[in-house]
Amino acid sequence: VKESYFGRVAEYEPGLRDALVEERALLDGIEVALDEDQIEPFFQPKCNIRTGKIVGAEALARWRHPERGIVPPAEFVPLLERNGFIRALDVRVWERTAAWIAQLVAQGIEPVPVSVNVSRADVDGMDVCATLTGIVERYGIDRSLMEVEITESAYADRRDSIIEASDELMAEGFVVLMDDFGSGYSSLNMLRDINVNVLKIDMRFLDRTDRRSRDIMESVVHMARWLGLPVIAEGVETDEQVRFLLDVGCVFAQGFRFYRPMDAASFAALLAEGDNVERVTLSERFDAE
Ligand code: C2E
Ligand code: MG
Ligand code: MG
Ligand code: MG
Repeated sequence: VKESYFGRVAEYEPGLRDALVEERALLDGIEVALDEDQIEPFFQPKCNIRTGKIVGAEALARWRHPERGIVPPAEFVPLLERNGFIRALDVRVWERTAAWIAQLVAQGIEPVPVSVNVSRADVDGMDVCATLTGIVERYGIDRSLMEVEITESAYADRRDSIIEASDELMAEGFVVLMDDFGSGYSSLNMLRDINVNVLKIDMRFLDRTDRRSRDIMESVVHMARWLGLPVIAEGVETDEQVRFLLDVGCVFAQGFRFYRPMDAASFAALLAEGDNVERVTLSERFDAE
């Protein structure tokens, strides 16, 4: 059946056949990558933009490919989300992140909280909360050191399983951030029904820094404050955007303007310097204005 399907597809749609072959190759490649430990987290610091100090980080998956070098997630995450392989990859990234934090602690370097990404597809056939709880326990790290990012669009699917997992994680004491907040069409409605600890404001809010954009961003920050939610801006690249954020009262940011994502050894070295780190609690993140 498969043969004839491919045969027929090939007959009418050679481009589609190539895509399927490429997809198959990528899936085989990912299996090898997991077997041979080529998937690793890079870390991008989150900063207090008033002081420039590091307050946390996000773990971002990278594939260290023997021939292609460092492959970014855009090239494999969407495909893996479509076919369920993302679970194995995410668990690997969470584990390596936890292992790295534990190693840091063992070396006497004080860590900062690191967030990991949870895909909407992770909840199909996996208990995300139990898995993350198991990981922090196995590596003996405090769960305040591992935070969880779930995208607004994953919540927007309105699938009970994502919301349940998110609620369970918060009940277990994990900090949950809504990633890419404001990127969808029902961002405000979402906040009526879904509880999270932090809003991570999507980088498209920084596309422009004119008056109207400023007013909108300021409204988002104030609304979050009314709701008791700390905010962090993502994708901050320029000094102009930094000034814009300070103007509207957003104090925390992640972006190339501060640091690019870096490998585990580089980030450990950065934290070991010590004086570039600031430890803030969740409520301090909120009160920072
Ligand atoms: P995200 O979770 O919203 O992560 C932020 C992305 O923005 C990262 O891209 C980061 O490198 C990029 N970024 C940070 N600062 C800047 C900036 O100043 N300018 C610009 N233009 N970009 C900036 P990255 O690492 O390529 O990841 C892309 C997306 O892939 C992530 O978006 C996330 O949705 C997904 N992803 C990454 N790692 C994982 C993972 O371990 N598991 C899952 N399920 N998804 C992941
Ligand atoms: Mg994220
Ligand atoms: Mg994001
Ligand atoms: Mg994003």
